[in-house]
Amino acid sequence: MTSLVQSDLEPMLQAVRLAAQLCQEVQRHYLIENQKEGHEPVTIADYGSQAILARAISLAFPDDAIIAEESATQFLQAVTEAQRAQIVRLVGQVLGEPVTEADMIRWLDHGRNRNVPRTWVIDPIDGTIGFLALRSYAIAVGVLENGQVSAALMGCPGYGAGRIFYAVGGVCYAMPLEQGQAMQVFVSQRVPPETMRVVESYESSHADHPAMARTYVEAGLNVMETVRWDGQDKYAMVACGDAELYLRISPKPDYRAKIWDHAAGAALVLAAGGMVTDAKGVALDFSQGQTLPPGRVVVASNGRIHEQILHALARLGI
Ligand code: AMP
Ligand code: MG
Repeated sequence: MTSLVQSDLEPMLQAVRLAAQLCQEVQRHYLIENQKEGHEPVTIADYGSQAILARAISLAFPDDAIIAEESATQFLQAVTEAQRAQIVRLVGQVLGEPVTEADMIRWLDHGRNRNVPRTWVIDPIDGTIGFLALRSYAIAVGVLENGQVSAALMGCPGYGAGRIFYAVGGVCYAMPLEQGQAMQVFVSQRVPPETMRVVESYESSHADHPAMARTYVEAGLNVMETVRWDGQDKYAMVACGDAELYLRISPKPDYRAKIWDHAAGAALVLAAGGMVTDAKGVALDFSQGQTLPPGRVVVASNGRIHEQILHALARLGI
């Protein structure tokens, strides 16, 4: 396996654009909440987006593995026959070619359970709750090479006029969602006492907002702007210098995060010159299958304020 270079990502950038088109179409005209196992919300767009991304991987990188949030089994259980016909038709429309339900099912499970050096980690709609509430969401694709996060693509339809971020070869880029020039982006150089721009989950069931507020005070971030936002755009905001800190403290003490909630975002921040660690300052371990090791804290920052946040967490016993 040779490491990916920028031109390798072209077909995937196109797939992220098409997945975003599909998500926007469903959000505008066909938005219905379904339930999957564990009473989690899901929509036909989650399945459509994953099918488009996995299809592109199957064509451009046929031997690679995929770890993705959705599955063909769930598709058949969570979605009615009429809804399945609808999403098959919409995926066909976006791809501009005939698509059958059998194609969708094949793409959804493509690359599963393969033990090969490169794995694509997909969250087809990260922030489904935000998607359903007409707030924000991200289409997140991370790449692991030998268990290390090495590249990523992230479609963010709700970030400004819509943007794509991607990272490859240790460089992070941003470009308009539709078409346009990619520009290299970097984390911000700000430190206190300058205004610290902090991003955190919108959902209080995903983030212990009071514990996070205590951490900011303890770390001495006195002048702050806090934004609550769904999906992994929060990592992209740190990567491109729109925020200095994304702190995530789960309300559940032994929470095991899914790797697809963090792989793409972590790759962006690292390639842009920032840091992403747990509460102890240890890099996130993406090599253990579907989940990260237990831990309620993720700190993504511009690097310059990272130590300050870790010390504050330690003093607070978080
Ligand atoms: P966000 O958009 O930042 O709220 O993050 C969305 C992700 O939070 C979802 O994809 C879930 O996998 C994840 N999530 C669900 N429950 C929890 C929890 N108790 N603690 C932390 N994250 C969670
Ligand atoms: Mg997610």
